[in-house]
Amino acid sequence: MNTSQITDMQNYGALLTLFDRYHNFALSTHINPDGDAIGSELGLYLFLTKLGKSVKIFNTDVVPDSYKFLPYWDSIQSVHSVGTYRPEVLIVLDASTLARIGKTLANTLLPTHKLVNIDHHATAEAFGDVNLIMPSASSTSEIIYKLIKCHQTPICKACALCLYTGLMFDTGCFRYSNTTVETHRIAAELIEIGEFAPDEVYRNVYEQLPVAKIRLSGEVLRTLQVTDDGKIASVYATQKMFRKAGATADAVEGIVNQIQAIAGVEVALCVSEMTDRSTKVSLRSQGRVDVSQLAAEFEGGGHARAAGCRIAMPYPSAITTLVRTAQRYIDQSSSEHGDCQKD
Ligand code: 5GP
Ligand code: MN
Repeated sequence: MNTSQITDMQNYGALLTLFDRYHNFALSTHINPDGDAIGSELGLYLFLTKLGKSVKIFNTDVVPDSYKFLPYWDSIQSVHSVGTYRPEVLIVLDASTLARIGKTLANTLLPTHKLVNIDHHATAEAFGDVNLIMPSASSTSEIIYKLIKCHQTPICKACALCLYTGLMFDTGCFRYSNTTVETHRIAAELIEIGEFAPDEVYRNVYEQLPVAKIRLSGEVLRTLQVTDDGKIASVYATQKMFRKAGATADAVEGIVNQIQAIAGVEVALCVSEMTDRSTKVSLRSQGRVDVSQLAAEFEGGGHARAAGCRIAMPYPSAITTLVRTAQRYIDQSSSEHGDCQKD
């Protein structure tokens, strides 16, 4: 496989060449898709459709209700619809690894010519024939914005809304450290083009919660444990809690951010017991510990301040293992910073 690693603006050209050369495109993203996954997919879908391409989107998991306000969300198909379809080019967005689009989909949706990987995760693997990996970008949606700019095609209204939604989501509503002057400039431009109300986008994404999610949050927050030094906070969600609250596994999203906000906490983790008894892990860092490295020890990945993994262990042992590992990272960073303990 002739792999070309593309890391800067000038090299967008290599990807744009594929847009000139091929006609049939398929797009996909990671399991449990979030705002950036869906936003970047639909943004790219709209751009390629405008170029006259045939574009299909296949995801392993369904579109969460909170993104059903986005145009063309219902053009996203499931793995069962792939059948014998073979795109010329498959573009994988925001996924870190090919396996993260879901094993069945990765084995079914096979491109006849090129596999493209567009991502902003620090731990992204260069699994494509063409890899557009930009860890400095706030979101995959920002990369798509720049790609369209490079093509010098006007961004349409619908596309602006999709890309803004991705940008807003991955920057935690412009609060996280990946928020820059440039992010704000892009956001402003997208609002201008899209003529949407940012407060409505926010409400659609964050304020259409099912009651079950709040009930689950209550249960999960009750499990809070903080280590004696106050630096690691953890919570867990069990299958029993999901059943009791009437919630699905994705309802834990956001809880880890709440416990990360505890004063003095360096690493926050939220683990969920999955139906197969394995454990899904969400990690957050205040900045000292690179949790993408921590997650990589368990074959996961993500960003320095937000990462995740799946551990083949029941949740109580997973928590013990994770807390011990997080402790090691904190100790390492303390010795690197020359911290001394005050009694
Ligand atoms: P979250 O905790 O919000 O689910 O995920 C935080 C970040 O970690 C996201 O950027 C997500 O893509 C990444 N992430 C979460 N789980 C996994 C995983 O199992 N594998 C990899 N490679 N990345 C993950
Ligand atoms: Mn993303």
